[in-house]
Amino acid sequence: MKMLCPYCKQEIDETNEICPFCTTNLVKSDYKKFLLPLGIGISMLWTVFNFLILIVLRHFLKFLTLRDKDGILVFSLVEFITFCIQPVIFAFIPYIMGIINKYKIKACIIGMITCVIFAIIFVSYFIYLEHLAGV
Ligand SMILES: [Zn+2]
Repeated sequence: MKMLCPYCKQEIDETNEICPFCTTNLVKSDYKKFLLPLGIGISMLWTVFNFLILIVLRHFLKFLTLRDKDGILVFSLVEFITFCIQPVIFAFIPYIMGIINKYKIKACIIGMITCVIFAIIFVSYFIYLEHLAGV
């Protein structure tokens, strides 16, 4: 099947990934059309996922709060996640989408891994604090 290159209007084979005339990557342009709905989709899924996680977390409040020896609330993991971690991660989504848009997949993966590492460090630190407080 023949088609016209959307960039130089030369007739090319439909299976071509790169236009032989203007060398435009035709797969890339399909990618771009897909990015905005993908970004919105991820953001919406993330929001729904957050609500579900918070509902689940609230059932385990006892394990997710830090109290001192007198039983006074010192720290709440749920509140920390809600007000600090989630907005930061949420802010990362458009940033990650922007990186993907420029096809810097490596940088995107590094960004996501950094998020995960920060989350792991934070949870580990919380568990360490729990041990210190003797909970
Ligand atoms: Zn072309």
